[in-house]
Amino acid sequence: MKEKNKKEDDLMEKIVSLCKRRGFVFQGSEIYGGFAGTYDWGHLGLALKNNLKQNWWKKFVDNRRDMYGIDAAILMNAKVWEATGHVANFADPLDGKQFNTMLKTEVGAKKEEVAISYLRPETAQGMFVNFKNTVDVFHPKLPFGMAQIGKAFRNEIAPRDFLFRQREFEQMEIEYFVRQEDWEKHFEYWKDEMLDWMQDLGFDMTKIHELEVEKKDRAHYSKRTIDFEFDYPFGRKELFGLAYRADFDLINHKLEYIDEEKGEKIIPHVIEPTFGVDRAVLALLLSVYVEDNKNGEIRSYLKFKSNIAPVICAVSPLLKNKPELVKYAENKVFRLLKAEFGRVVWDDNGNIGKRYRRQDEIGTPFCIVVDFDTLTDDTVTVRDRDTGEQERVKVTDLKKYIQEKI
Ligand code: ATP
Repeated sequence: MKEKNKKEDDLMEKIVSLCKRRGFVFQGSEIYGGFAGTYDWGHLGLALKNNLKQNWWKKFVDNRRDMYGIDAAILMNAKVWEATGHVANFADPLDGKQFNTMLKTEVGAKKEEVAISYLRPETAQGMFVNFKNTVDVFHPKLPFGMAQIGKAFRNEIAPRDFLFRQREFEQMEIEYFVRQEDWEKHFEYWKDEMLDWMQDLGFDMTKIHELEVEKKDRAHYSKRTIDFEFDYPFGRKELFGLAYRADFDLINHKLEYIDEEKGEKIIPHVIEPTFGVDRAVLALLLSVYVEDNKNGEIRSYLKFKSNIAPVICAVSPLLKNKPELVKYAENKVFRLLKAEFGRVVWDDNGNIGKRYRRQDEIGTPFCIVVDFDTLTDDTVTVRDRDTGEQERVKVTDLKKYIQEKI
């Protein structure tokens, strides 16, 4: 057991250290000693996070006809949080008393005009308060959904475990509005959609577990909740959630829906798939981190699928002090690939071995090297991250070669 815990602790340390060393995630306000529960995203972490969010948006919004996006303000009228019960109940136990974990702030300059507001603790309410706007503008037929990606804030009593429990984090949420009698069918459908997305992104599905949340642990309005848990090194804990919120929110906000065809007024019921962006990144990193032994040398790499990898390929001239190699690599390879794939970097730092190790660690699927043979035969070396194997490919076939692989 001790042995296993040590290994798991080591893994977490390796991920945190890789994130810092390679520019994925830094401690928040680091040069001032940090600020608990906050992290800053570096160039590559940001690329990874953006890919993940874009991928989510594409699947759940762009590729559908029944989903409406929204980007609501983080600061909302405090009445929103009174109506939902957050002001009274959004609390965790602390020393025997309940501690409200909403981050309170004052808005306005003149004393008499100052209003109390809260940094939203979830993105969900930004969708409910825009339910009427969305229905009035787009006239959607049931079932339909609203989707939002954005920051959420919670004054967590004990932020911990790197990206897992922070005070400022990001959520991707859907509120899917259905007729009451259909909720079970839609719940099953969304469960499969969530699993499908996780699979497509490359989460280690053997580490994902569905937990049927018991009645005593569910929000009082929810008739069914599933937590998707992940085997983190620090234990099996929540990654994402799927909840049946019934008509709780629309009733709280005194909202209703008119079926224009039937001329009937109803209060739709809500299925809510919710995804934490930061926990998704952490679980992904833990899913794709691999160590292998190549010729007696331990190598670590991130086996990202290309739909999510921050960089798809790195282009290098074999030697950076040979202008003819640099010119060829830049004009005939880098520009071509950059225009096609976008996520392409130039890497001429250190020797080739070092460049490969660096690109392996950030999870770049392909490294392309321009050498002296290139100048005579217009072929380049393409090295595969996972196998370490190298192939000579004609520059004219390069785009197609990579397209096929990804
Ligand atoms: P937990 O029980 O771990 O506190 P929760 O049940 O309060 O989580 P939800 O209110 O369901 O979480 O929030 C939806 C999602 O937002 C979670 O599934 C998780 O991915 C993410 N999330 C919640 N709290 C945090 C946090 N403090 N830091 C990072 N992500 C979070």
